[in-house]
Amino acid sequence: MKVVVVGAGPAGCMAAIEACKRGADVVVVEHRWPPRGICAGGVILSRAKRYGIDESLFASSLVTRVKTIAMHSPSGYVAEFKVNGSVIVVDRMEFDAFLREKAADAGAVFHKSKALSVERNVVRTRHGRINFDKLVVATGSPRRLPGLPRRRIRPDDAYICVQTTVEHKPEHDIEIYFGHHVAPRGYAWVFAQRKRRLSKVGLGVPASLGFYAVKFLKRLARMERVRALGKIEAKALYLTEPARKVSHGNVLFAGDSIPSTRPPGGAGIVEAMASGRMAGRCAVSEEDYERMWWDTLGREIAVGYKLKTVLTELDDCGFDVLVRMLRR
Ligand SMILES: Cc1cc2nc3c(=O)[nH]c(=O)nc-3n(C[C@H](O)[C@H](O)[C@H](O)COP(=O)(O)OP(=O)(O)OC[C@H]3O[C@@H](n4cnc5c(N)ncnc54)[C@H](O)[C@@H]3O)c2cc1C
Repeated sequence: MKVVVVGAGPAGCMAAIEACKRGADVVVVEHRWPPRGICAGGVILSRAKRYGIDESLFASSLVTRVKTIAMHSPSGYVAEFKVNGSVIVVDRMEFDAFLREKAADAGAVFHKSKALSVERNVVRTRHGRINFDKLVVATGSPRRLPGLPRRRIRPDDAYICVQTTVEHKPEHDIEIYFGHHVAPRGYAWVFAQRKRRLSKVGLGVPASLGFYAVKFLKRLARMERVRALGKIEAKALYLTEPARKVSHGNVLFAGDSIPSTRPPGGAGIVEAMASGRMAGRCAVSEEDYERMWWDTLGREIAVGYKLKTVLTELDDCGFDVLVRMLRR
């Protein structure tokens, strides 16, 4: 059985590891070397546990065990949550490198090239053609490769995220900011990187409001006591309803190619890992991936999407009320 996986993020690596374990010949096609995912790196451990993902996988890339999370409303109300280590922050570069190493150890072969299209049982890449019996698409985006069924994306579901690293120590390990003046119809975040006394600062807003992202960065550059250190990274994020079908014939979609980011929380790493692992397993075993995916993740993501549509309709006053309620 030959399994080709496109994308070496958490979903693709988990699919590769699982398919290798079950005896498949696995080729992972990845075009960015080293692959880099722009990400704040927050992981809710109870979710990882629910999907059977071992906490030890995060050990080597652990940056911080989060003690407190604060939510800031537009008028300055703050809701503080003590999470006492049940949320962690990982270094995504290190974490992804760790997973790639595990996939290589399991026997996956990496093909460093861009997948351009899919034609019958062949993936065409910049550097050749690779035959497959099963294909796992883990490209991190619901925009489909040419040759695969197209998916329509509502303009409201396309977001733009920007993030950079700054020298700044926030009061809480994770701070979330709502409000029209900060991130309209989205939110901004500060993730303390305690190990190095740095923070990741970013925001996500609908793509149509992308100019806010630029405004944010300009404001950041002017702030006292904040020194931008890293590059400013930007990424499109699609917070869509889960696709009705997560497989087509011998093609299985995993991770954010479905997508599986949980819209309100932004979280997606463990969801991507869980769906990748299921895709790798079903690619080899012929189990029903659709069903497994919906039972494990689909329903929760669909609920998350509904919650997102409610949250994006809240105005500043609504966020004030929400945060004040959460304070109690
Ligand atoms: C700003 C931001 C902050 C986030 N913060 C968090 C957070 O704190 N916690 C959390 O859990 N999640 C967070 N997420 C979401 C999380 O990053 C994603 O859910 C997760 O990375 C999805 O994993 P994936 O494997 O599906 O896709 P990705 O990690 O995006 O990996 C896809 C891979 O496919 C490769 N690829 C794509 N197209 C091709 C092609 N044609 N040929 C070859 N290779 C290709 C890419 O180079 C990439 O390496 C955040 C996302 C963003 C944008």
